[in-house]
Amino acid sequence: MSSKVIVTIFGASGDLAKRKLYPSLFRLYKSGNLSKHFAVIGTARRPWSKEYFESVVVEAIADLADSPEQAQEFASHFYYQSHDVQDTEHYIELRKLQNQLNEQYQAEHNKLFFLSMAPQFFGTIAKHLKSENIVDGKGFERLIVEKPFGTDLATASQLNEELLAAFDEEQIFRIDHYLGKEMIQSIFAIRFANLLFENIWNRDYIDNVQITFAEKLGVEERGGYYDQSGALRDMVQNHTLQLLSLLAMDKPKSFSKEDIRAEKVKVFERLVQPDKDDFIRGQYKSGTVKGKKYISYRSEPNVNPDSMTETFASGAFFVNSERFRDVPFFFRTGKRLTEKGTLVNIVFKQMESIFGEELAPNVLTIHIQPTEGFSLSMNGKEVGERFSLAPLSLDYRTDATASGASPDPYEKLIFDVLNNDSTNFSHWDEVRSSWELIDQIEELWRSNEVPLHEYPVGSMGPDASFELLREFGADWQWSPNK
Ligand code: NAD
Repeated sequence: MSSKVIVTIFGASGDLAKRKLYPSLFRLYKSGNLSKHFAVIGTARRPWSKEYFESVVVEAIADLADSPEQAQEFASHFYYQSHDVQDTEHYIELRKLQNQLNEQYQAEHNKLFFLSMAPQFFGTIAKHLKSENIVDGKGFERLIVEKPFGTDLATASQLNEELLAAFDEEQIFRIDHYLGKEMIQSIFAIRFANLLFENIWNRDYIDNVQITFAEKLGVEERGGYYDQSGALRDMVQNHTLQLLSLLAMDKPKSFSKEDIRAEKVKVFERLVQPDKDDFIRGQYKSGTVKGKKYISYRSEPNVNPDSMTETFASGAFFVNSERFRDVPFFFRTGKRLTEKGTLVNIVFKQMESIFGEELAPNVLTIHIQPTEGFSLSMNGKEVGERFSLAPLSLDYRTDATASGASPDPYEKLIFDVLNNDSTNFSHWDEVRSSWELIDQIEELWRSNEVPLHEYPVGSMGPDASFELLREFGADWQWSPNK
């Protein structure tokens, strides 16, 4: 890994930079993954001084530093450049600073650019980085872009073309922060390091897969953005389909980024055309939970009072592969649900019983957040003289506080970029295929052939999402509302 690098963050005064990027860079510094040969250029519109920027960084890492001296030493690597991304002059200044810091820190011309800004600016930044010779072909040059990557296939393709004018696909790292989460990465271990699962991870043994991304919060202050996006684009096109690809892929030849990507891309290419009856959309209405009143989605600030945007999406994807043909991959994601939780349930097929009583199917649950770990539900014998069956669970879980030991996804992902490892990022082939599919669902929804169901706050979404599973002879395994 090269820890010699100049990192330029576009959007350095923003929320993401303060909450995630500075703490993650600090953890990498503390663990020795970034050493004395690194500097960070922060750019944003505000006219900050270096001193003020350093104080922002120190504040962002206050809880992580061992001493004020350590925090200050780290912050001394940060430089600020007031910058309007549309203004060519500013890139000339940026190049001067980049070159100066490269000399000062002996960074061997290695450059990392993190676009932590609204995506409408990504194209213009890439174009200027190239035209103003900041991207000069010396050292490594890598670009990290935040989500969302387009709002449909057309805008995503256009954005991709704009980035390709300055960077190759191999240099572009599209962040999906869920891919940096510890338990998502441990799917590889669970699947491919255990004979027990490796041999039964297919349509002969798995009845269905259930992916839930539930949020308890509403749209908060993001109403303006969310109303243009909705749950399908915000959560399904990226996180849900990426997770699905890890669950559905065949065993890669090796753990290399090339082999893993090849298998993931095959899953995306084999996703079956959506059937309108298999996808449900919903929107939360006003209501009271535990005595507290909540407004409806349409009454949220910056949301169109007649909005048809979904705050809940659910459905069944199918992958046309030998391994998983006809096995439904159910998903649901939404806001103002009962409880926050991201998890996957792998529901195995029901066995024929010799005991005269029905057997519950085995279920492997992968808990992604806020708890991390996995559990396996089994049928055991009830303690006592008589023989009867009782459910039991093998559980390996850490709670949210204990999982502080897991690296933050951004720390892990920046580490990967420094290592030139794109395994945990979305490749353009994956992004293109996922938008192709999502565009088709959006089209069905826009034609209003699929109703927009209302659902009560504090529920797990509209009844239609439960009915959908019943049509396949299944039930949602995780029912925090019960
Ligand atoms: P933010 O609004 O807090 O910050 C935006 C930054 O861009 C600010 O530093 C601002 O000064 C800068 N900026 C805006 N216009 C500019 C211009 N013309 N020239 C120069 N700088 C300009 O946004 P954020 O929450 O930090 O999010 C940044 C990106 O990350 C967005 O793409 C967002 O979708 C994505 N994202 C954010 C989060 C999060 O938790 N905040 C999570 C996932 C993805």
